[in-house]
Amino acid sequence: MFDDLIKPNIKAMKAYTIEAPPCSIRLDANESPYGFPLGRFSIPTNRYPDPEALSLRKILAAKWGVKPECILHGNGSDELIYYLLIAVGGPVLIPTPTFAMYRIIADSLSERTHMVPLDGQFDLDTKAMLAAIKEHNPKLIFLSRPNNPTGNSFTRERAIEIIEHAGGLVVLDEAYQQFATQGVSNPRRKGDSFIELLPRYRNLLVMRTLSKIGLAALRLGFAIGDKSLIEAINKVRLPYNVSSLSQTAAIEILRDEASIDRSIQSIVTERGRLFAELSRLNGIEAYHSEANFILFKLKADNRLTADDLHKRLIANDILIKKLSGGGQNNPLDNCFRVTVGMPTENTAFITSIRKIIEETHK
Ligand code: PMP
Repeated sequence: MFDDLIKPNIKAMKAYTIEAPPCSIRLDANESPYGFPLGRFSIPTNRYPDPEALSLRKILAAKWGVKPECILHGNGSDELIYYLLIAVGGPVLIPTPTFAMYRIIADSLSERTHMVPLDGQFDLDTKAMLAAIKEHNPKLIFLSRPNNPTGNSFTRERAIEIIEHAGGLVVLDEAYQQFATQGVSNPRRKGDSFIELLPRYRNLLVMRTLSKIGLAALRLGFAIGDKSLIEAINKVRLPYNVSSLSQTAAIEILRDEASIDRSIQSIVTERGRLFAELSRLNGIEAYHSEANFILFKLKADNRLTADDLHKRLIANDILIKKLSGGGQNNPLDNCFRVTVGMPTENTAFITSIRKIIEETHK
């Protein structure tokens, strides 16, 4: 009966469902395995939250070396992608494979998305991207760097070339930036974040989230960019989009920067171990990662099917993300994304997958 009411573009969409079999080892959602304890704090439950989230934005502004007016807060960076698509709109240009929400949100707002495949190393195909910029004149380009789900960081110079040639806005989504090697080797340095390039490129916007560093429950994402651009996008923000609980908890947790840095270090160290162990397995190709997860593929000579491996890991109480192949020639065919967990979880995963592969090849 609602068929006539729902817009055709929404009817054509598939709901984004999150598969969650009840496994105790959850390495499927790029969350941090480390949460932070919260003390007791009092919140006036009868009052709306600070609509501007000013105290929180001030703390992050100091951390990122920008002015608070250059930061916009979102209920997760997902919400900011939504706001960008409302305020700026399409056409949208994305290299693929990449984070699914850019396309999903563009579709839901009837904005056109153009997709350009990444090259054989999952890096930006600059020539194809520049050709697409010329042809479609996109108002928004999303670059996830490091990229989800491939895990690599696009070559800095290639991303810069795109920013320099784009007539519209280029969004550098740095959801996983803290795990990139350059950032972690010296946490005081901004690593190779594009935040430092903001003064040079007015059409650059950087997105950050606190979800990957242990605060996913709070839903906090941020856009950092030119003050007048931030003011324009802020017009479409819902007034009380970030709850008082989230604001207060984040302020408390961010005080303990050392603990956050330690958890990031541990994930980066474990990523190295997980990569080495996965690479040693028969019939598996693991891809280099600068994020808190690793992409790996079942090679063609593997007798195990992707469905089988997924099911058998679930039977062993371990959940990882099976990527949808979409058929042959799709670069994600037979691919999985495993989030780096705690050392014990990673060991359980490696032990389990090794056993499954050995049994199949007996
Ligand atoms: N960008 C990328 C590249 C992501 O992978 C994710 C989360 N999967 C997000 C943004 C959304 O993060 P948030 O939790 O802040 O909405």
